[in-house]
Amino acid sequence: MSNFKKIANKKICVIGAGLSGVWAAILAKEKKGHVFLSEGIRELLPAEHSELLNKYNIRYETGGHTKKIKNADIYIISPGIPKDSKIYQQLKSFAKPVISEIEFASWFTGSAKIIAVTGTNGKSTTVRLIDHLFAGSKYNHQLGGNIGIPFSKLVIDTENFDKNKIFILEISSFQMEDIIDFRPYISIILNITPDHLNRYNGKLAKYLEAKLQIAANQREDDYYYYFSREKLLRDNLPDIPNTIPYDKNCKYKDLIQLQNNGRIKTIDGDLLKIRGKHNYYNTLAALAAIEQFQLEQDRILANLKSFTGLAHRLEFVKSINGVEFYNDSKATNIDSVIQALESFTDDIILILGGRDKDLDFRELIPYLKKNTKKIILIGEASEKIRNQIAGIVPMEQVNTMREVVDQAYNEARPGEVVLLAPGCASFDMYENYKHRGQDFKSLVNELEK
Ligand code: ADP
Repeated sequence: MSNFKKIANKKICVIGAGLSGVWAAILAKEKKGHVFLSEGIRELLPAEHSELLNKYNIRYETGGHTKKIKNADIYIISPGIPKDSKIYQQLKSFAKPVISEIEFASWFTGSAKIIAVTGTNGKSTTVRLIDHLFAGSKYNHQLGGNIGIPFSKLVIDTENFDKNKIFILEISSFQMEDIIDFRPYISIILNITPDHLNRYNGKLAKYLEAKLQIAANQREDDYYYYFSREKLLRDNLPDIPNTIPYDKNCKYKDLIQLQNNGRIKTIDGDLLKIRGKHNYYNTLAALAAIEQFQLEQDRILANLKSFTGLAHRLEFVKSINGVEFYNDSKATNIDSVIQALESFTDDIILILGGRDKDLDFRELIPYLKKNTKKIILIGEASEKIRNQIAGIVPMEQVNTMREVVDQAYNEARPGEVVLLAPGCASFDMYENYKHRGQDFKSLVNELEK
């Protein structure tokens, strides 16, 4: 480990009291740094966060950054803080390293291997599937990063950092903005489509640049897997020998096949529980992620079949009188809505709306023309959506999720699909996408047969 990474007795300042910031602070403390955490916005932290900080005896301030943040040796910055913010500029003016939590945690991983997955859509599904594919194997695998458990916490909880130890990490583009040495053994980019462009001043190139950081430190014995149908990725391969298009050259590609009806069939004739072309590619990505490890094919197949997918991602809720209800509340951008629509050949009643993320709903038009029978609109973006896709399929605007579900069920005939794939954020009516999806599911479950 280079001197720069030896943090005993160094002053470590963590900016932002999100869960990853809190765990980075704890990790720094465990490594004998002098730690201070500064939260610039929230006055009151969630109880879990303040309890952790108190338990580990970490000094902190909330509700604004004071001069206490000066004179640190290293700054660990929360992924929520944009580069053009005042605080980021201020930290840069101190001329000390400013790193992300992912970078920091990776300093303490010994010979463990990192599998890192990024992309606009499909990260959570893919990392969970990768984790599931290792189930029952000799590998000591742990899942974390953007998916919930901060990498720093995984590192703290780990006892053996040997070569059978694998960290499977979901990485957002924000987390990759401030890396220096972060080096996955396996890195995967699933796709790049417009999302979060507000953070990148509307520039896809900048967003791509952040995503490509995932491979920036990879070497000749590492592997970079990418989605070759995406020109942006084909044109921007990192300069290492092992760059592999997982959708074409994966060792286990023949284990699964995509059927015309959106179902995914295994080589021995069973159907996976997840469906749709996007999940077919996510599965190929997950199969690529494990191909450098020793796993038996029988185990891989069994694990593929027992994978149930994630809640709120094209999640099957219920079938009522032949009408199938799907909850894809996490479909908060255009591409994920398109993927959801493309997962069915039956007629669809589509629920769209929520808080607009500055997206162009006209891009949905060709897909809506195929088998969308009706659109039900809800939330702040209703007016915009109505204007952008006027005259394509009948649309109706309602005010509550209860009306959405009742109306959709009234409209649907046996054999049709009711799909919540809103193409918008949920914050106009809900705390988050989970809350929205949960509300939808509860109301569906209340429908009478
Ligand atoms: P992420 O963690 O990247 O947000 P998720 O697995 O949570 O990805 O899925 C988010 C949304 O994107 C869901 O609506 C899901 O159905 C959809 N989705 C999943 N995989 C893909 C993919 N490969 N391409 C496009 N959309 C996808």
